[in-house]
Amino acid sequence: MRGNGAHPVEAHSIAAKAALHLDREAQPKVRPVFNLTGTVLHTNLGRAVLAEAAVEAASLAMREAIALEFDIGEGKRGERDTLVRDLLCELTGAEDATVVNNNAAAVLLVLNALAKGKEAIVSRGELIEIGGAFRMPEIMSRAGVKLVEVGTTNRTHERDYTGAIGEKTGLILKVHTSNYRIEGFTKEVKADKLSVIARKHHVPLVNDLGSGTLVDLAKFGLSHEPTVAEAVAEGADLVTFSGDKLLGGPQAGFIVGTKELIAKINKNPMKRALRMDKIRLAALEATLQLYRNPDALVRSLPTLRLLSRKKEEIAGVVERMLPVFSRAVGDGFETTVTDCASQIGSGSLPQETIPSKGIAIRGKKRSGGEMVALSNAFRALPVPVVGRIEDQALIFDLRCLEQEDALARNLTLLHVPERG
Ligand SMILES: *Cc1c(COP(=O)(O)O)cnc(C)c1O
Repeated sequence: MRGNGAHPVEAHSIAAKAALHLDREAQPKVRPVFNLTGTVLHTNLGRAVLAEAAVEAASLAMREAIALEFDIGEGKRGERDTLVRDLLCELTGAEDATVVNNNAAAVLLVLNALAKGKEAIVSRGELIEIGGAFRMPEIMSRAGVKLVEVGTTNRTHERDYTGAIGEKTGLILKVHTSNYRIEGFTKEVKADKLSVIARKHHVPLVNDLGSGTLVDLAKFGLSHEPTVAEAVAEGADLVTFSGDKLLGGPQAGFIVGTKELIAKINKNPMKRALRMDKIRLAALEATLQLYRNPDALVRSLPTLRLLSRKKEEIAGVVERMLPVFSRAVGDGFETTVTDCASQIGSGSLPQETIPSKGIAIRGKKRSGGEMVALSNAFRALPVPVVGRIEDQALIFDLRCLEQEDALARNLTLLHVPERG
């Protein structure tokens, strides 16, 4: 086509643009990325990366018919919870266990099943908000439970709990303050003390651990985070925790505790609405199986493998990758080795950082917009590379990098933005 003296519109350039557009449209929205943020359990990047065994179990469950609610021995209907119940009991010391969509669902279900139309007592220091609008007071009201706050933000005493217990009390809730710490002039009533109070007054004690871990992280050079077995041993009647935080499995919410209370929960109609699907159940069983061999866990479970990775090992990765990054960004940028502080993420040990190594990229012109443009270019790669900008430098923490060759191939396609 030709207009009046305008440039000829070239058919092939239109075709190329259209093809590019169609390619973009056809690209899946669920895409792998390189998580070089230094946050191992990054909620926005899907939290835990699953173990190979879990991936295999999940794909098998997708491809084949499985005995999901079928008792193979008896040849009759079974229950899906039995697929993981014994493992959960073995690993936590609890009498019984059930599993739902996520920990938010677990808390909602427990509150509704045990305290609908009644009161739940919680310390004012533990009224948490987890990202994504999970706020304890709101969950309570949705569960049909009246919140009874006791103590103050910084100090809650035993007498605060005992003073609040009455006819209408449905449960006492202890919440692990996963994503914050209250420091200074503080007092909390620990779960073991609280369980004595709860028992004496015949009300159940529920401990929402949040992340909860099945192994002592101190063994892997990290700080101690309460384990589920400890919480059970302290005397909580029910303990709730997540599948895709420190446990390193698929998204899931666990409720472990007494037979009587788990039976009550399983009878609640909400349980059906919040139940787990077969794919995740398969991945979950495979993940929990790995915990039966704790010595191999640090190799078999990516979450622990990455969290316990030593700074020296990461330094080796950085050394190999530095020239690759440097070549990819070209002469306009300065690429250096930098110390990093990785985080666990997902609200676990919020103040804890783990020493790590990474690569810092700075523009030689030192303009702020330049780094934003470069960071965009890294995210525009076939496999987006996600880092963070800090003090006008683009930082990539290499703690979570295991596929060095794949990243190197990817980086050869980096399109460094024009600099103005
Ligand atoms: C993370 C967390 C939740 C929510 O768990 P999800 O698995 O993300 O639904 C609830 N309570 C606490 C204390 C948490 O840390």
